[in-house]
Amino acid sequence: MRDSTSKAMAGPRPVVFSGPSGAGKSTLLKKLIKEHENVFGFSVSHTTRNPRPGEENGRDYHYVTREAMQAAINNGEFIENAEFSGNLYGTSKAAVQAVQAKNLICILDIDMQGVKNIKKTDLNPMYISIQPPSMEVLEKRLRDRNTESEESLQKRLHAANVDMEFSKEPGMFDVVIVNDNLEDAYKNLKQALLEEINKVKKAKASS
Ligand code: ADP
Ligand code: 5GP
Repeated sequence: MRDSTSKAMAGPRPVVFSGPSGAGKSTLLKKLIKEHENVFGFSVSHTTRNPRPGEENGRDYHYVTREAMQAAINNGEFIENAEFSGNLYGTSKAAVQAVQAKNLICILDIDMQGVKNIKKTDLNPMYISIQPPSMEVLEKRLRDRNTESEESLQKRLHAANVDMEFSKEPGMFDVVIVNDNLEDAYKNLKQALLEEINKVKKAKASS
């Protein structure tokens, strides 16, 4: 799947975040975007799963039916899409373009199938993996988050096992961050992105 969405919109290099469900991606990304509002923009994915309490349509995801999403995929509106834990998820071209049009670093939060598919496009992002310290900690975090049915939780834990192996493949990720202590993980994340953050700040200051 070749896609030329990003090439036409030259701007800062996007960043892909991946890692097992419950590893702490959303927590870290929300912190990052809040602290750097004028630097990062979130690519709002589409999903067929139901919103969780506190999630907002259009901000966290575009919540759609499977029929509507499948039709949009067939219509070529997505850069990548995947089935995860019984639901469809995908990144639309419009979601990435909306961020790139503002000259912000576009953040994608996608599963490993998404990572594999984005690697086939010309988006050319930096790839960051957020990993939990252990499967035990991951399970506890997912249970304590209280958002999943037992069935969904088991599917996510199964996917996490595969994901944790995948993340060890050489060259798959530019940076792997183990989210044990949240503040330490956040510091490491900012350090990994420092150069890109400064580039955007500099460009904004001179424009
Ligand atoms: P993801 O977006 O990767 O699925 P979340 O950001 O939702 O993961 O985090 C899963 C749960 O773990 C949330 O309830 C979150 O508050 C909690 N959490 C995240 N990072 C840490 C951490 N370093 N220590 C303890 N709990 C954490
Ligand atoms: P959640 O249901 O916990 O929000 O997300 C479940 C998984 O779907 C996570 O691994 C998340 O990264 C992934 N995900 C979210 N949006 C997308 C997307 O647009 N594409 C792909 N491939 N995965 C996504």
